[in-house]
Amino acid sequence: MDPQRSPLLEVKGNIELKRPLIKAPSQLPLSGSRLKRRPDQMEDGLEPEKKRTRGLGATTKITTSHPRVPSLTTVPQTQGQTTAQKVSKKTGPRCSTAIATGLKNQKPVPAVPVQKSGSVPPMAGGKKPSKRPAWDLKGQLCDLNAELKRCRERTQTLDQENQQLQDQLRDAQQQVKALGTERTTLEGHLAKVQAQAEQGQQELKNLRACVLELEERLSTQEGLVQELQKKQVELQEERRGLMSQLEEKERRLQTSEAALSSSQAEVASLRQETVAQAALLTEREERLHGLEMERRRLHNQLQELKGNIRVFCRVRPVLPGEPTPPPGLLLFPSGPGGPSDPPTRLSLSRSDERRGTLSGAPAPPTRHDFSFDRVFPPGSGQDEVFEEIAMLVQSALDGYPVCIFAYGQTGSGKTFTMEGGPGGDPQLEGLIPRALRHLFSVAQELSGQGWTYSFVASYVEIYNETVRDLLATGTRKGQGGECEIRRAGPGSEELTVTNARYVPVSCEKEVDALLHLARQNRAVARTAQNERSSRSHSVFQLQISGEHSSRGLQCGAPLSLVDLAGSERLDPGLALGPGERERLRETQAINSSLSTLGLVIMALSNKESHVPYRNSKLTYLLQNSLGGSAKMLMFVNISPLEENVSESLNSLRFASKVNQCVIGTAQANRK
Ligand code: ADP
Ligand code: MG
Repeated sequence: MDPQRSPLLEVKGNIELKRPLIKAPSQLPLSGSRLKRRPDQMEDGLEPEKKRTRGLGATTKITTSHPRVPSLTTVPQTQGQTTAQKVSKKTGPRCSTAIATGLKNQKPVPAVPVQKSGSVPPMAGGKKPSKRPAWDLKGQLCDLNAELKRCRERTQTLDQENQQLQDQLRDAQQQVKALGTERTTLEGHLAKVQAQAEQGQQELKNLRACVLELEERLSTQEGLVQELQKKQVELQEERRGLMSQLEEKERRLQTSEAALSSSQAEVASLRQETVAQAALLTEREERLHGLEMERRRLHNQLQELKGNIRVFCRVRPVLPGEPTPPPGLLLFPSGPGGPSDPPTRLSLSRSDERRGTLSGAPAPPTRHDFSFDRVFPPGSGQDEVFEEIAMLVQSALDGYPVCIFAYGQTGSGKTFTMEGGPGGDPQLEGLIPRALRHLFSVAQELSGQGWTYSFVASYVEIYNETVRDLLATGTRKGQGGECEIRRAGPGSEELTVTNARYVPVSCEKEVDALLHLARQNRAVARTAQNERSSRSHSVFQLQISGEHSSRGLQCGAPLSLVDLAGSERLDPGLALGPGERERLRETQAINSSLSTLGLVIMALSNKESHVPYRNSKLTYLLQNSLGGSAKMLMFVNISPLEENVSESLNSLRFASKVNQCVIGTAQANRK
């Protein structure tokens, strides 16, 4: 290690200090400005010292080469001392140390040989002494003695100087030692500082990473904060909205509460009223029931007064394409009450051709007057007709069997009256759909009084004394497997048709579907057996069952609506071929069953002990709908055509007979 270099310079050369070094108490006499010098500057700075030291080491040379050294010998001691001091002052202790070192390593050279023999001693007071002549030996000796004296003084001075320099050297060595120690201390310190710096850098690095991470987190957090602020604004907005809603609701609630409390008070008073009303209602129900029973009784009395067997005559209009009948063929004289009275009479005028032939002059037409319960001229609508029988139909709900027939020749309007006209026109609806609709609606009304009604429909056809189901479906459709009329059970009065469908109905639509099915079944049969519907009886039956459960009352009765076979007779003058024979058999069967019907009605009217119900399938099936408590209505349908006058007359005669019959006082079927 170069003891000349400061440890601080070493530090400065090796590391770049990040922070100012703590200035250790230095014993170096170097000034602060020298410490701050760079090493290169330092080297340069040191160079002259070295040179100087070397120069000192080679004093002899210098003395010879340097023109000023010899002058040293001539310079007075005080002057030389001053020069040395000046040098010492300029270079500092270090320089003087260097000089001392140089002096130490050098043997002291006597000042005398330095001086050239030929050189002239300097004159005292700076004035060069003048050269003595060679002969002036004494003077020369004197000079030499003076010179010797000066040299001795000089030697003495130099010895003193040497002593001084040695002292300085010692001090310098001590200083070097102290500086070495200081350096070691400083190096240790430096190492510590370096370690600290490294640690500091590591920490700094970590802190930077930390800062970066924190900055990142900060930006994320800032984003979040912004979002949250936005949300907060939204929520505040929402909150304001909700608050206003809440206020509104609260206001409404208060209003509602006020309304509620007033309603509660009202409810309490209404409850009291309801209790009073309930008591009143029970009383009224009791009265109503009494009145309903009274109504039924009176209704029945009225029906009885009108007659348990009633006959209505209906004349159909002339259809398009039919010949217009002569005027006066059918007349409808008004009743005793004038034209406002519903017509009950009908006059048919027929000219007897045979009588006219015998006398040779045209005989005046014979007028046949008939009187019925009601006569419907050709212009009468379906609704008008139904109005007349609505009350009768209602009797069925009251528990009285009701039977309505349509009697007349083929084409007189029986099916039109019973089922209705073609095309499903509601205006042309017949008695069956209208009656059922009426029954459903009255049953609905009576349900308010505690009555529950159920209805079961059946529709059969009696052709040539065989029964066929018109409601058959599937494979039986149109085939009409054999049906038999039997008692519902041993000892039972009720009759039922085996193999026939009994369909519960509760609305118009179901009834319409049944009528449609019956029409389809008839159509199939028509193709198979050559238009037999006009030669068969169609019987629509509705079993009505009513119950008043709270009073334990029950009532039930059948409503039968019968479209009878054509009443026309075969022309006896016709030649009987095989087809006609069959036709005759059919007609006989029809006639037989129709006449049996007449006979049954007569027997019932005459209160005969034996009523020949079993003589025909028709009367047997209708056994429970005729006689006793039953009410019967017969429509006699009349064709307006002149060609049908004879059949019309027959029909009217038959109907008149029936009209004369009175069946005993009816009694409701009550249980
Ligand atoms: P029936 O059943 O007695 O053989 P229909 O009821 O079939 O007779 O009637 C024969 C024709 O006369 C049918 O075309 C029918 O539409 C028509 N007809 C019957 N009565 C009336 C009436 N009151 N008004 C209009 N047309 C009728
Ligand atoms: Mg018919």
